[in-house]
Amino acid sequence: MPKIDNGLAAILRALLPLVLCAAWLVGEPPMTMHAARFAVIVPGPPIGQPAEAAMDGARCADPAGTWLGMRWRTELKWRVNERTIPAYLGDRTAVVNALRSAATTVQTGRNDCGLPANLGISESYAGKTDHVAGVTPSGGCGERDGANSVSFGPLNKGLLAVTCIWWYGGKENGRSVETDILIDDTEGLFFLSTPPACTNRWDLEGTLTHEFGHAFGLGHVAFAQHSALTMTDGLPDCSTAYRGLGLGDYLTLKQQYGTN
Ligand SMILES: [Zn+2]
Repeated sequence: MPKIDNGLAAILRALLPLVLCAAWLVGEPPMTMHAARFAVIVPGPPIGQPAEAAMDGARCADPAGTWLGMRWRTELKWRVNERTIPAYLGDRTAVVNALRSAATTVQTGRNDCGLPANLGISESYAGKTDHVAGVTPSGGCGERDGANSVSFGPLNKGLLAVTCIWWYGGKENGRSVETDILIDDTEGLFFLSTPPACTNRWDLEGTLTHEFGHAFGLGHVAFAQHSALTMTDGLPDCSTAYRGLGLGDYLTLKQQYGTN
């Protein structure tokens, strides 16, 4: 399960005026909006795991998956704060392309298992933004600002990236209204393509496939039993094997978004 921060009360207070306004604008009765909560998800680096962890057959044999409870009913339009991209990653366009590829993977259900990549998910990259992700350095969620932002910034050691989700409604049928992703900007933490003699560095695209999985509602599966899946709660270093979806990642999205 995701780590749920205990800052819920503050978020609810901050959201109340927006909730009422949004309810009026879209013509929904205010009472249908019960809560706005967030999931804080941390793919922590496991200790001593081989980079080949995801390469065995389990990736297409393990059907495990968990669901956070909320989902998008409209297109998720997201933006990148390019000014926050750390210089060590090089060309900003290449970085944005890696992020877009990760989002596309979740949108379509692109997988390594020969399953049709045709989920009913809708997202689009909407360009640059000056907004930053509403995520604190300790991995908590800040205030919602109306923009779905991906940015780089400081995160506590052990956190690669954190996704926050704001949603209305109950646990089982929540409606997501905003999601932000903060990626740790520590020098050398990520790579776009595997460097020689790689150690203690992580694949940016695979990490973001995992985070966009959260953005659309996927929860974690335990690394101890499901290390081959993209939604494992620990990502091995130096592996590019998590850029697509594994069987359980795919099936769980399909169950929620697959319409045909
Ligand atoms: Zn995670």
